[in-house]
Amino acid sequence: MLKLKTTFLALALAGAATMATGLTASAQDKATVGIAMPTKSSARWIDDGNNMVKVLKERGYNTDLQYAEDDIPNQLSQVENMVTKGAKALVIAAIDGTTLSDVLKQAKAKGIIVIAYDRLIRGTPNVDYYATFDNFQVGVLQAQSIEQGLGLKEGKGPFNIELFGGSPDDNNAYFFYNGAMSVLKPYIDSGKLVVASGQMGMDKVATLRWDGATAQARMDNLLSAYYGNKKLNAVLSPYDGISIGIISSLKGVGYGSADQPMPIISGQDAEVPSIKAMLRGDQYSTIFKDTRDLAKVTADMVDAALGGKQVTVNDTKTYENGVKTVPSYLLKPVVVYKDNWEKVLVESGYYKKSQFQ
Ligand code: BGC
Repeated sequence: MLKLKTTFLALALAGAATMATGLTASAQDKATVGIAMPTKSSARWIDDGNNMVKVLKERGYNTDLQYAEDDIPNQLSQVENMVTKGAKALVIAAIDGTTLSDVLKQAKAKGIIVIAYDRLIRGTPNVDYYATFDNFQVGVLQAQSIEQGLGLKEGKGPFNIELFGGSPDDNNAYFFYNGAMSVLKPYIDSGKLVVASGQMGMDKVATLRWDGATAQARMDNLLSAYYGNKKLNAVLSPYDGISIGIISSLKGVGYGSADQPMPIISGQDAEVPSIKAMLRGDQYSTIFKDTRDLAKVTADMVDAALGGKQVTVNDTKTYENGVKTVPSYLLKPVVVYKDNWEKVLVESGYYKKSQFQ
């Protein structure tokens, strides 16, 4: 009797749950969405994965979330598995944007919707949509923070600066660099900013896999080769993990003291250790990209595409992937400084104040 009752209750509850999700999830109920993320070594991608799972589950989807630890063949086989196991949509933040063409061809043949998540997938027609932030604007904001930190607009200078770029296999890295250079180049041309190493252009300043240790080694070399009797005043860094490497290198030769202050250093992703570095005065700025919003926009794309509805995009011109221009939705990045971090990151509920105490 007890068992019967329990079964009845379970059925009733399941019915209620179906009705409840039915309100939001409709016909695609229980389709599986494969989510391929690059690495757990950076907190932002962990947030991205968790937020994607949360939003998709709320809408009645099953999810298959995989991280590839920045290993390209690993990510490829994860995506192959998702296709074999019958995913109806793929959300992919690629490690190398050019290595997925074959598996995406198979996906297309099966009618699977493919969404490039944050990073553009290049060299294939088989990517349907792109959800990201305004990546050029990220670079603009990074460079404007340097402009502000140095007082360039007020005519101060000349200052010494070194430039770091992101991973050369990530399309975003070029957008960040070009956005930053749109602000910095005029100062370099007028002599208010001096790149003592002369190293400019993504072919010279890129950092493979966005690796902090690689950046640290390059900074070590730059400091010993060009800054024996000069002070470095600013460093363009595209990502918080790279900034951490740069800061370690600078501390190693005595920067961060009263007579040798830290240069103005930018960053990206508003990761907790880097906000702490900002509060200590080691890093000057970072860029916040709200992964909750990116997850929502991406889930909207999945929902609409699988439901045969019009997918909302706000940019159909910028993201040419070598084969096609991918319809995109661009969110707004926000610059974070010591004086607005609480408002942007804590008051919005993204972080808890206790994470910084
Ligand atoms: C993302 C950045 C991130 C970088 C390193 C880029 O593709 O857009 O937010 O800092 O990858 O993970």
